[in-house]
Amino acid sequence: MIDCTTDRHVHTYLCRHAEGTMEEYVLAAMEAGLEGIVFLEHLERGVRSLEPTWLDDRDFAAYWQEGERLKEVYGEWLNIGLGVEVGYNPERVGELRDFLGRYPWDRVGISYHFLEVAGRHHNLVSRKRENLEALGSLGVKRVLDRYFHGLLAAVEALPGTTLCHLDAALRHHPEVAFDDDHQQLIDTLLATLVARGMTLEVNTSGFPLRGASFPDLAILRRAADLGLRLEAGSDAHRPVDVGRFFDRLAALPL
Ligand SMILES: [Zn+2]
Ligand SMILES: [Zn+2]
Repeated sequence: MIDCTTDRHVHTYLCRHAEGTMEEYVLAAMEAGLEGIVFLEHLERGVRSLEPTWLDDRDFAAYWQEGERLKEVYGEWLNIGLGVEVGYNPERVGELRDFLGRYPWDRVGISYHFLEVAGRHHNLVSRKRENLEALGSLGVKRVLDRYFHGLLAAVEALPGTTLCHLDAALRHHPEVAFDDDHQQLIDTLLATLVARGMTLEVNTSGFPLRGASFPDLAILRRAADLGLRLEAGSDAHRPVDVGRFFDRLAALPL
């Protein structure tokens, strides 16, 4: 049910918080016996942060150059895709669309990483205390409301091909819980993905954190019922994590 032949979500040193070169990821994918790998590097616009955790325009140019070289060298043995994980920012939709139009991406993953609270951006998927406290002070329910409404707007506004780690927001917050409103928003999101011909990512970075993928089995079942295409991604930030926990996905009772 879940396509695990290819790892469709990996990062490299280019994003400044992952390690390993693109070539090291390619070698790791071949070592893991995968048919393919898709790089999904971080794109953000308008996020105020002291330490950028994404690629700038020059990084993306280098990324494409190296990616094309690797396709030539290793293409016979491994399908290599060059994609992007675009972080939604409601204030910068035009800029994001413009940048996405510059390259022929093999995959465009939509995420929503940074929420603005009182003029500052806080990372929704970070484990850092300052992020968790700032977002927690807004109220977990309200943050999740904004997150899911934002994702819905992102899927409508951006030329995405897949939705990434759907239920990962506030994953490190002890009070994270989805109420009926959130469940309804998730169902609307899944239906919107179907309508737009997009796929749903099954992100295995959830296994070491909570023993389940992002999204969890209950949501995956609803997605499968709708006929959504499900595609595995490790969200590896180091080469050794390419294809991690894909064996567990194959065993899920969908
Ligand atoms: Zn990252
Ligand atoms: Zn992400």
